[in-house]
Parts: sequence; C-alpha cells; structure tokens
Amino acid sequence: MKKVLFIDRDGTMILETDDFKIETMQKIVFYPEIFYWLGRIVREFDYELVMVTNQDGLGTDVFPDEPFFTTHRFIMDVFAGENIKFAAEHIDRTYPSDNKPTRKPGTGMLTEYFTSEYDLKNSFVIGDRITDVVLAKNIGCKCFWLNDGRGLGIGEIKETKESLKPQIALESRQWEDIYNYLVNLHSPLL
Ligand SMILES: [Mg+2]
Repeated sequence: MKKVLFIDRDGTMILETDDFKIETMQKIVFYPEIFYWLGRIVREFDYELVMVTNQDGLGTDVFPDEPFFTTHRFIMDVFAGENIKFAAEHIDRTYPSDNKPTRKPGTGMLTEYFTSEYDLKNSFVIGDRITDVVLAKNIGCKCFWLNDGRGLGIGEIKETKESLKPQIALESRQWEDIYNYLVNLHSPLL
C-alpha cells in the first residue's frame, strides 16, 4: 500500500505572505532548507507526495489564473529539478463561506486516496495551519504542523489545539525535525 505525504503549499513549501496570495515571482521565498530535508525524505523513504492547497478565489478577477499558474509552475519545476516530484496537485479555489467539501480541511479533493491502494493511517499531512491538522484528522492520519501561529481562531475551525493533540505527530518550524521524526519512525527498534 502507498503511503502519502499530503503537503500544503503556502507556508509549507514557500513562505506565506501577509496578503496570503502568492501570484508573482517576487513573492516567492522557498521554505528554509526544504530542498535539503524534503529531498532526503524523498530519497530515503517511500512516500508519494501530494500537494493540497486552498487558493481562495483563484480564477476570479481579484485573483486570476494568470499570473498565478505561471508562478505555480515555476515553484513545482524548481522542486522537480531537485528530484522532489509530486504525484498530484489538488487546488481548491473556493472561499470559506462557500462551505465546499473540497476546501481544506474537507477531503473532497482527495477521494481517490480512500481506497485499499493507500495506507492513510501511516500517511501524514504537512502544513502550517490548524486547518491542515484538521485535514489530517479527516483523512485519518497525523500531521507535521509547521505552526506559524497564524492559523488559530480564523473562524473556520471549531477544534482547538488541545482537541487535536492526537493528530499532531510534531509541531515545529523546521523541516529538519520532520526528517528526524521519520528517521526515528523507520528505525528498527533497538
Ligand atoms: Mg499553508
């Protein structure tokens, strides 16, 4: 069975911006050390990489497809160039008020993974928001939470950090800690 790392984009692969909208090259700052540590994860372990991102209002006049997708392709091409290749990309375009099941933490974009082909219990979500932790809960896996402190109290989420504790494998701002967690997880017991 395939294990998956469901990876958020903004705040996880690239740094979040103050306007939460990354659609120009000038706004792209890759997450510190992600190429080294995610690169090692890819080389040393067997996880399928799947990107899952909410892009509120993408495709509307205030957030048109272009230049968003030009910059998005650039980001994904840079990762691919480091041999960090994503099996799939799932981008939700709705607003919180639309209440769509496809919007994280909903799993509406991820139905293809709820099959016997995938080992979701041993998969992980990696993201910077509490919505990513709730996504892990809804998938039935655990989360590496790159908590930037901006994800709480946004109104979309009823769960608290306390109630989500069982979902949180690790809370850290460092990709290195995710790598080390996986090393420990996959080390044979002494
Ligand atoms: Mg994010």
